Amino acid sequence: MKVLVINCGSSSLKYQVFDMETETVLAKGNVERIGIDGAFLKYRRGDEDTITVEAEIPNHEVAIQLVFDALTHKEYGVLASVSEIEAVGHRVVHAGEKYARSVLIDDDVMAALRECVDLAPLHNPPNIMGIEVAQRLMPDVKHVAVFDTAFHQTMPDYAYLYALPYELYEKYKVRRYGFHGTSHKYVAQRAASLLGRPLSELKVITCHLGNGASVTAVKNGKSVDTSMGFTPLEGLIMGTRSGDLDPAVVTFLQEKENLTSEEMNNLLNKKSGVLGISGVSSDFRSLEEASQQGNRRAELAMEMFAYRVRKYIGAYAAAMGGVDAIVFTAGLGENSASMRQSICEGLEFLGVAIDPVKNDVRGKDVDVSADDAKVRVLLIPTNEELMIARDTVELVRG
Ligand code: ADP
Repeated sequence: MKVLVINCGSSSLKYQVFDMETETVLAKGNVERIGIDGAFLKYRRGDEDTITVEAEIPNHEVAIQLVFDALTHKEYGVLASVSEIEAVGHRVVHAGEKYARSVLIDDDVMAALRECVDLAPLHNPPNIMGIEVAQRLMPDVKHVAVFDTAFHQTMPDYAYLYALPYELYEKYKVRRYGFHGTSHKYVAQRAASLLGRPLSELKVITCHLGNGASVTAVKNGKSVDTSMGFTPLEGLIMGTRSGDLDPAVVTFLQEKENLTSEEMNNLLNKKSGVLGISGVSSDFRSLEEASQQGNRRAELAMEMFAYRVRKYIGAYAAAMGGVDAIVFTAGLGENSASMRQSICEGLEFLGVAIDPVKNDVRGKDVDVSADDAKVRVLLIPTNEELMIARDTVELVRG
């Protein structure tokens, strides 16, 4: 079965086409600057060089048409016709409390997603639009929605509730939801197969460290706690997001700096995190460089980042009553040996020990812990698209 996976943002669209008999990626790419000058499509067949097509791309319909053109191109296409695509998997950020798993999209699902717009005003609208456009262009195939929040719906109430008046939870559904669920689930499953043990018997802490970053406690295959909350702002320090904060800081700064709530949101989401601390960059490669050249604030930002992740690992080991494996994934988790090393420093009391030689690696499934370490530290590249394609196949086949 050939499956198209779509991740639709407000001005971008990422896509991959899988042959699910072999779970291989036939082609993938992205469309950027949709509706803006200088729009382009990137397309890559298998491991070949990436092709860039510049074009006027006023909307997502045109963007998907361009993707189809590339996929069926005489020279570099991978399909004889678009009708070879048997199902489409859509990444959707927020399903509120409605869905704890992926679903076949029908009118009820679309209505539920619209109800969640309030909870994810930046993400759900483009996700919904992506589904509508894809359904119009491919009316005869089944479409599946895979949610970032779904995996975390197993959190117990004492973990997902905020200690606010309970009525506000009932009225507005203000609670912790968690994100990156598809990634946490994927790497937890991979960890179990690498360790050769059933996930249902394991306590795993998964650290998804990219531009957005979150940690999840996965006990017996279920998410029992995660660091992101009502929005992806809670928890870890991120590229440009503050993560955990005393909520009183927000009103204090709003008053002192005379900020509107939109400006405050912008400060917390776009100007904070390691960018805010360092004043250098949100990208850890630039921070490492600056720190090597003696920039103390860049070094401080990385120390703060590592310290926060370490605290969450400790907290989640306590939440689960132990830990069998810690998994690092996403841009920073997969690529930065030094960050993995600094996060794990001081966790020896838990039975964590990284082997520096094994840890000197990037981008592949590998156990980087010392031979005699009680807790396994694993590096597992995430693959959210494959997870979406797998869920799509499962639901389409019934
Ligand atoms: P996103 O959340 O946007 O999907 P990624 O998972 O691609 O992000 O992670 C991007 C981040 O990963 C970059 O901002 C950078 O900080 C970090 N990163 C990527 N490669 C490296 C590297 N070689 N060394 C250190 N950090 C890296």
